[in-house]
Amino acid sequence: MKEHPDFAGLYIVNHPLVQHKLSLMRDKSCPHYDFKSLLREITLLMGYAITEALPLSTRAIETPLQSMDAPVLAEDEPVIVPILRAGLGMADALHQIMPHSAYGHVGLYRDEETHRPVEYLIRMPKPQGRSFIITDPMLATGYSARYAIDVLIRHGVDEDKIVLLTLVSAPEGVRTVRETYKKVRIFTAALDSHLNDKAYIVPGLGDAGDRIFGTG
Ligand code: URA
Repeated sequence: MKEHPDFAGLYIVNHPLVQHKLSLMRDKSCPHYDFKSLLREITLLMGYAITEALPLSTRAIETPLQSMDAPVLAEDEPVIVPILRAGLGMADALHQIMPHSAYGHVGLYRDEETHRPVEYLIRMPKPQGRSFIITDPMLATGYSARYAIDVLIRHGVDEDKIVLLTLVSAPEGVRTVRETYKKVRIFTAALDSHLNDKAYIVPGLGDAGDRIFGTG
């Protein structure tokens, strides 16, 4: 997968099914039950891309016919870290393809005046050498993503073991993360134009949390 030419460590998942499903989600007439399942389907497809570089080793096994050194993951499955609440919409799809993963949770809400994240819950398993995948559909200002990365770093996770998985990103958000963290890889389905004065991504898809959970 190619790096974005203007942003080191940013990867756009351009798979036709991902792009098609994202367009269905952007449409304001998409009902929340479709929105939720489309997000899940896209995450399954993006899960393929973000796990492509996981290291493999081999294990000696016996098939019904003979013994072989079979490829297996060299490390425990990555920890999945949704940023509450919208990140939950992507977390279970990742867990489906990596069912031994543990979860961490980062509970943040956005102060409507300052657009800065306010913490209300952190639960994190010990790193134990594992990779960590942060999920949040919208990388807007980047403050919440950077906050979640700060939390992981404080918990002893190596920066190069952290992946940020988003659905739609704004250039402003990518820059905020990059100002502090050069090694975190960011995977997204779209890099949109800009943020509006309320810090919503344009053209975006509105409030992802409200659209996933049918609130708002
Ligand atoms: N959060 C959202 O849910 N949507 C945006 O456009 C920006 C932040």
